[in-house]
Order: sequence, then C-alpha cells, then structure tokens
Amino acid sequence: TLYNKLLELQGNIRVFCRCRGNAPSNSCLEVPSEQDIVVNQKAGKKKFHFDRVYSSTSTQEHIFEGTMPIITSCVDGYNVCILAYGQTGSGKTYTMMGPKNNPGVNVRSVRQLLSICKKRENVTYTLKVSMLEIYNDSLNDLLAKNPNSHLDIRTQGKSVTVPGLTQAEVKTEDDILHVMEMGEKNRKIASTKMNIESSRSHLILTLTVLGADAVSGVTTQGTLTLCDLAGSERISKTEAKGQRLVEAAAINKSLTALGQVFSALKCNAIHVPFRNSKLTHLLQPCLCGDAKACVFVNVSPDPLNITETLSSLQFGSSIR
Ligand code: ADP
Ligand code: MG
Repeated sequence: TLYNKLLELQGNIRVFCRCRGNAPSNSCLEVPSEQDIVVNQKAGKKKFHFDRVYSSTSTQEHIFEGTMPIITSCVDGYNVCILAYGQTGSGKTYTMMGPKNNPGVNVRSVRQLLSICKKRENVTYTLKVSMLEIYNDSLNDLLAKNPNSHLDIRTQGKSVTVPGLTQAEVKTEDDILHVMEMGEKNRKIASTKMNIESSRSHLILTLTVLGADAVSGVTTQGTLTLCDLAGSERISKTEAKGQRLVEAAAINKSLTALGQVFSALKCNAIHVPFRNSKLTHLLQPCLCGDAKACVFVNVSPDPLNITETLSSLQFGSSIR
C-alpha cells in the first residue's frame, strides 16, 4: 500500500501535488502517473515530478492516505507538520479544513491521532491545542480572549516557543473541533476589523501530544503542526497599493524564506536560514533534525491560472 511505501522512503520531507477538484472541461493539467503532472501550455507540455500527484478527482480520503504515517510519528514523540502551499483558490483550505460533511487533513489527522493514543493502553496522553495566524510578519493568537496580540518567538536550545500563546487542553475530537471553530471565528472577527482577507495570512494550528508510560516511566512530547499558508500568487506592483502592497511583500518574503529553508535542508546545508521569517522560525522544530513534514502543493486546473500553477509546481519540485 501507499502507506507502507511512504514509511520506507528516505528523507523527512514529502511533497505532494493536488489538482483542485471542480476542474473545467478545458483543464490544463494531466496526471499521467501517480508521481507526475503535466501542464499543457501553448508553448508545449511541461512535466513535474512529486512523491505523489493527486488528480482533480482525488477524494479527501486519498489525500489523507499520504499523511497518515506522520501522525503515528507525532504520537511516538516526533515533531511533524503538514503544509498547504498554493495560490488563492487552488484548494488549500479545502485540503486542510475541507467542508463539514467532507473534512480534510485537519479533522482526519485529529481523529487518527486520538485513535492511536487510545490503542496504547499503558500510556497516558495529554493534548494541547494552539492556533495562531501570521499576518505581515506579526503573530496573532487566535485562541486568546483578546486577539491581535503581537507575540514574540523565543528559541531555547532546540525548542521554539511563543510565550503567552494560549494552549487549550483538549481530550476529545469534539473538544478539538470546538477549539478550531473558536479560532476560526476569532480569525474572522480580527480580519474584518483590520480589513484583511484570510487568504493573506498564514494559519498555524499546533497539537502538542504529551505521553507518559506508566510501566516504563518514559515520557514523550510530539507536535503536529497543520498549516494553511497565505496565497502564493504574485500581486503586480501596479495593482497593489498601500496595505495590499505591504501584505504582498510580507507573504512573498515568508514564502521565499520557506523555499530557502527547504532548499538548505535538501542539500544538508550547515546553516539553514530559519530566522529569516517568523513563519520559518516557528516551523523550525518540525522541519529540522528527525522531524517529518508533508507539503501539499495545490494547483488550479483552470488555464487562466497557468502562470501561477507553473510557479507553484516549480516551487514544489524544487524543494523535494
Ligand atoms: P484556497 O484555500 O487555496 O484559497 P479553497 O480551498 O478555498 O482555496 O478552494 C477554492 C474553491 O474551490 C472553494 O469553493 C472550494 O470549495 C473549491 N474546491 C477546492 N478543492 C476542491 C475539491 N477537491 N473538490 C471540490 N471543490 C473544491
Ligand atoms: Mg484558503
């Protein structure tokens, strides 16, 4: 099965590509094999290779199959993350959150995580959730009573913390979903107040899993970070003015920093520039060392989006 194949793969970063559903009849994307995607442009065909490519007809179940192995790692005490990258409208939020009646990676991960914890009878698990957004390189705690709380990031040895960030203790799936809904609501309120669209900020949800084995006395701490990134589209300087231009620059800077971090990790560079943006600084624990990451590169099948699609596929194939 794909699950076993993924477990055997070397390296800690998997890059998957997902073509958005609801493809128009003149779709510019073809998926000739499980690992290849072809873009049909006027100038000819261009092919990209990934750990796995999911076509427009792939289901939320198919998508989750690729991420399942790292959920087990998280319960085992590793830091893992799942990221969705792509232009606005390419299906990032659908992939991560999904509609209520057909949930995405977030809900399925939480379910899987709780079911693994339950099976390990000797171990007592404590779960905590935090939820924040990064807008214009500024951190906003989405579970705080008083959001808009520009928090700082602190590094101590190998750990990266955000002092003051709300950590909600949760026990059941319902608890977690409730906290996620609350965070979503706060995000809407905050963004309406500041006149920003949710597609212009990075959303980061982190589950901390603390395990204590009653028999061996061994304790573990793993984290699962779920990240719906800001839209990767380039905004032309003539279009964007004032606040929009500042936003576009901040997104561009953080996504570029993310690409540089992946590239440095890929070639085992001695220096990985995690500190170049708040995004990469926060993600550091789940990208370095024995951490494991899955990146979904979401692309639109609509020929109107072909330039952004090529740019996202370029990003995705350059980091794996
Ligand atoms: P993004 O978060 O990247 O801006 P969305 O996830 O909001 O994009 O998706 C854009 C639109 O396409 C939404 O209306 C969403 O419901 C729809 N959509 C995305 N992916 C799929 C899919 N796999 N199947 C059906 N509809 C989808
Ligand atoms: Mg979205």
